[in-house]
Amino acid sequence: MANGLFEKVLIANRGEIALRIHRACREMGIQTVAVHSTADADAMHVRLADESVCIGPPSARQSYLNIPAILSAASITGADAIHPGIGFMAENAQFAEMVEEHGFTFIGPTPDHIRMMGDKVVAKRSVAACGLPVVPGSDGPVEDLDAAIEVARSIGFPVLIKAAAGGGGKGMKVATSLDGMREAWHMARSEARAAFGNDQVYLEKYLGRPRHIEIQLLADLHGTVVHFGERDCSVQRRHQKVIEEAPSPALNASQRDYIGELAAKTTRQLGYRGLGTMEFLYEDGAFFFIEMNTRLQVEHTITEMITGVDLVREQIRVATGAPLGYDQSDIRFHGHAIECRINAEHPETFLPSPGRIDGYHAPGGLGIRIDSALYDGYVVPPYYDSLIAKLVVHGGTRNECLMRLRRALDEFVIDGINTSLPLHQMIVAQPDFLNGSYDIHWLEHLMSGEKP
Ligand code: ADP
Repeated sequence: MANGLFEKVLIANRGEIALRIHRACREMGIQTVAVHSTADADAMHVRLADESVCIGPPSARQSYLNIPAILSAASITGADAIHPGIGFMAENAQFAEMVEEHGFTFIGPTPDHIRMMGDKVVAKRSVAACGLPVVPGSDGPVEDLDAAIEVARSIGFPVLIKAAAGGGGKGMKVATSLDGMREAWHMARSEARAAFGNDQVYLEKYLGRPRHIEIQLLADLHGTVVHFGERDCSVQRRHQKVIEEAPSPALNASQRDYIGELAAKTTRQLGYRGLGTMEFLYEDGAFFFIEMNTRLQVEHTITEMITGVDLVREQIRVATGAPLGYDQSDIRFHGHAIECRINAEHPETFLPSPGRIDGYHAPGGLGIRIDSALYDGYVVPPYYDSLIAKLVVHGGTRNECLMRLRRALDEFVIDGINTSLPLHQMIVAQPDFLNGSYDIHWLEHLMSGEKP
């Protein structure tokens, strides 16, 4: 580490997020090492990195999740640190531990914090002990159906049965009455077992019309914690985010300060370090913690647009041990930002649509940012996440941002495969979206033809 910075960072990821991390490193004068599967030999992150190492065949299990291959690539290239990106190894405590054991810096929180937040039951308990409000529910994991019924009776239907190891909306089932309990219980458990190899579940009150509001946090290794305001990620399908915006149309400045400061205080109390996001459900003026993501998030871009802070640069900087060098009063918010997640999938059936891009034109102009690893002639492989581009738009006001977003969506051309561009065009034309009056169920109601 010369000048207190890393000289070389290995990026253990692919696609747009690998590119995003490469860009931050390049601007900091840090060399980058890309790792890739054989399916990604022509990928943009491989082309742009200073060095690249092939770590296995297309299957993620044998490449991007292959710990020995990633550590060997770091060794042979002489990297100082490993950035896990999003997904794959990003929330794997054992990986973080092994990275450090092999003498590299893991750009992320401690393995203990990853473990604490990876078990959602432990996460809820830990933050509740610091005074953060959580969704009412079972006190810990629920062992059997009878116990689940007892909890459901005491908190009242509808209830949500959730996987302790959950992620990506998997292992989550609603029971609206006693009759539905048995089926929801078995479905949640078997989905959790299949997705996470762990069928432990817990119960929460199912909120009828909440918004998903999350707080971006950053902690250095010296006890300074700041928040960068909230993101509203309520436009969802199957509990997965489709569009995010910052600030939330539902919060005023004092609500923002209240939840931001509470989340920052809790982060400090937990001794957390690095970037992290606390996620809340917000209903009738009250916030309820649901989970903390111990990594960079896809939607960090909108926070960057309204604060002017490069969060990946900050994440790398604090991982070197550098103090933040600023405090909460230095963080200012300017205007409004919205992100559309563009996936390689059919806009109505949501079936994945890999294949060759045979026409590509990205929108441009003031306030437009595209985070994508696409190029004309690129072949979207069928093996990985379907996110292919993030369209991020900034405007001085929410209205300006919306007008700009609509014209940017109209300019965007991705030919050769199906994408979710038409879905986004449909959403941004909805009066409810324009008014900012939507909750986490709104998009699904809209698409099913029910009145939201
Ligand atoms: P995951 O880790 O699988 O993403 P989360 O706990 O973050 O799971 O929840 C994902 C989404 O599921 C939330 O954004 C929200 O839309 C929905 N959800 C979670 N908990 C509840 C709840 N108690 N009531 C209603 N919806 C919920």
